[in-house]
Amino acid sequence: MDSTPIMSQYRRIKSAHPDELLFFQLGDFYELFYEDARHAASLLDLTLTSRSTAAGGRIPMCGVPKHASETYLARLLKQGQSVAICDQLEESQSGKGPVAREVTRVLTPGTLVEDAFIEQGTESGLLALWQPRERFGLSYLSLAAGDFRLSEVDTREELLAEIVRLNPSEMLVAKDSSLKGLVPSGISVQELDALDFDPASAERLLLEHFGVDSLSGFGCDRFGLGVAAAGAVLKYAERRIGQRAPHVNGIRVSRRQDRIHMDASTRRALEIDVRPDGSRAPTLYSIMNATRTAMGARRLREWLCAPSRILDEVLDRQAAVSEILHSQIDLATSSPLSEFGDTERIVSRLGLRSVSPRDLVKLRRSLSLLPHIVSLLEATACPKLLDIASKCPDYEAEIALLGRALVNEPPALLRDGGYLADGYDAELDRLRGVQRNAQHFLAQLEADERLRTGNPGLKVGYNRVHGYYIEVSRASRTPVPDNYIPRQTLKNAQRYTLPELKDFESEALSSESRAIALESALYQKLLETLQTSLPALKETASAIADLDALQSLARRSRELGFCAPAFVTDRGIDYRAGWHPVVAEHGTTPFIRNDLRLDDEAGLLIITGPNMGGKSTYMRQTAIIALLAYAGSWVPAEEAKLGPIDAIFTRIGASDDLTQGRSTFMTEMSETANLLHNASAESLVLIDEIGRGTSTYDGLALAFAIAKHLAEQSRSLCLFATHYFELTALGESPSICNVHLSAAEHSQEIVFLYKVEPGPASRSYGIEVARRAGVPKSLLENARQELEKLESRLVESERVAPTLFDTPSQHENNRAQKVVDRLLSLDADGLTPRQAQALLYELIASAKDGDAEH
Ligand code: ATP
Repeated sequence: MDSTPIMSQYRRIKSAHPDELLFFQLGDFYELFYEDARHAASLLDLTLTSRSTAAGGRIPMCGVPKHASETYLARLLKQGQSVAICDQLEESQSGKGPVAREVTRVLTPGTLVEDAFIEQGTESGLLALWQPRERFGLSYLSLAAGDFRLSEVDTREELLAEIVRLNPSEMLVAKDSSLKGLVPSGISVQELDALDFDPASAERLLLEHFGVDSLSGFGCDRFGLGVAAAGAVLKYAERRIGQRAPHVNGIRVSRRQDRIHMDASTRRALEIDVRPDGSRAPTLYSIMNATRTAMGARRLREWLCAPSRILDEVLDRQAAVSEILHSQIDLATSSPLSEFGDTERIVSRLGLRSVSPRDLVKLRRSLSLLPHIVSLLEATACPKLLDIASKCPDYEAEIALLGRALVNEPPALLRDGGYLADGYDAELDRLRGVQRNAQHFLAQLEADERLRTGNPGLKVGYNRVHGYYIEVSRASRTPVPDNYIPRQTLKNAQRYTLPELKDFESEALSSESRAIALESALYQKLLETLQTSLPALKETASAIADLDALQSLARRSRELGFCAPAFVTDRGIDYRAGWHPVVAEHGTTPFIRNDLRLDDEAGLLIITGPNMGGKSTYMRQTAIIALLAYAGSWVPAEEAKLGPIDAIFTRIGASDDLTQGRSTFMTEMSETANLLHNASAESLVLIDEIGRGTSTYDGLALAFAIAKHLAEQSRSLCLFATHYFELTALGESPSICNVHLSAAEHSQEIVFLYKVEPGPASRSYGIEVARRAGVPKSLLENARQELEKLESRLVESERVAPTLFDTPSQHENNRAQKVVDRLLSLDADGLTPRQAQALLYELIASAKDGDAEH
């Protein structure tokens, strides 16, 4: 072990930060040692070096230049690492032991406020989960946006959906809690002491933080679990940033019944803001995004990912979108919004006093755009726009103060000063004056002394060791005045000083550091003064984010030719000439628009048609129309009418979830069990290809039972795409209808028409689609012959026995019901892989014909 004073200091500081990588400042570098060095070197691709110890050993070490540290820090944070920054607090001084060092900031992925560390278009959010009994409490905090919420959910499925929706960068759970297993891979997780979730302490902490006597003003009364999580999250965040967060001045309860519920797989399937391969475009969000500010972009994403069920809110947004669209208020291009900065984050940094002068200059510019924006909004009669205008007061005093205080283009670094404007503070001006006048003073002194001594070779100069001096060369041989004080003797010259030169010297040398210190103190005072405006600024930032999201919806709705949907109280979805906005924008052929009607009379549509015929697109476009409507937007259709929708469920595509021990079929059945449990008469359910992962008859029986359950028990609004033509027999049942995607055959080639027609399809054209995909010709020929054989065998057997679903017998109905009942009783998350497999066999056995009772 190295026992030099510096390494002892290092070990003392490191022992207080065992979980973070310690960036330890040594002059112009941040150095890492021991395990931290090994870890960081591999994460950052740095060369691992070593430092020798007094005892002759070596300590692993690596380092990054301090001036370039931001890039390295951002990379570590992105990889889920937390970092403690330990800075030198004083200049190094030889011979006096190590300089004072202290951890000045702990950076964790979920508590970031610096734009440099937060990837564009994302949030740095912290999510705490708490589950003392059955229910779950959760709380989300984004320090950068000042956004603080809590909620409670009943099931793990809902919890997972919330985790995906909130997309945190860091999560907090109690030590030894099974909740750790829910943390998605790649997200950093901290295990806290269970005491950090103590409900009473959490409530006390929140009351004190908000300076209130009760949390009822925030609607938190009946959310004890959420409050416990909120206490844990706030305490952790404040501990990490080492201070209070005054801009976090309220908490919102987010209630499930206020939003259209979409679980994690539905969000993925609808490609709202991410595509299955993880890319960000094209998605619904990328198509609808014409925001001009980063905070507006975040707001738009939030609206699309969690459409509202509060009809008044939806109508307000829609009215504002329509108003902007009709009145053609041009908020985006005629500059006001495009010049507006990310005020939300600037205000957060102002609250944490880490805001830079550049941020404040941006804030001033943004605030001075408000009167223009307000005048545009006040010219309308739209309540939502007028409400936004009312949240944008005149910040005359703040604008004037910032204008007086700051130079127009402040330097990036505070270290050297120069960001406060001249004229802001008399003492600062004086100190700066001393520096500026130094050259003038010295030139004048030189001229005066030349005159006084009659020596034209006399020079005034400066060196670091002896300071300012007057130099007289020995060759000149002129006598010097009595008040010249000798300072340094050189071979060819003598150097002197003078009392007034000494005074000047001490003032000049100290004025620079005094000016920098004074500037920093004045800046802190300026931030202090601005704290009183924090709540209003926060409200304004949020209002402008709303406005930006609204103008984006309006602009894209106009450009894409959308229509304003109508809302009705009867359940149902009815649209004419609707389209999928992403497929239509990015497809290579013109998009064929289709109609849809789902209501009490036709609650479930069985959709058949060729592979690649457009079934899945038709289903997804319906969900997107519903989702956009309830986000407050216009929708891609020529006419649309929507009843209430409480949730959107999808069962589209399938993949193995081997980390959870689930096969493709098991994943499919778990998702189905979830939607069968939760879908109501106001839910929109999209089912694409259920039951394909098992044998034909098992799959068919399951698909049949599931469709019947959705139509008769859940009575959900359901689109059910299938290649099991046997299911079209269900079209005879009340409230179930058949539609198909049309295709035509042209000289043995299939032509997709993409038009939705009433009635069932006759074929799947699977072999033709395989040919298009490049499957070898000889193989296709084989397949065709096999198909002919199978079809003729089927015709033969149909002569003997009716097909499976011609007229479902009582026994078949019972059998189907048994399978559904078993699925409904399933707790898919509680199953081990072995139990899952056993259950699968059981389900298959129940679905098979050969039951003993048959
Ligand atoms: P499968 O049964 O093989 O899953 P599918 O019937 O679900 O196929 P989709 O995936 O919806 O077919 O559509 C296949 C492709 O057809 C889409 O990617 C799109 O390019 C095109 N398409 C779908 N619908 C339309 C439409 N209405 N107009 C034009 N092109 C369309």
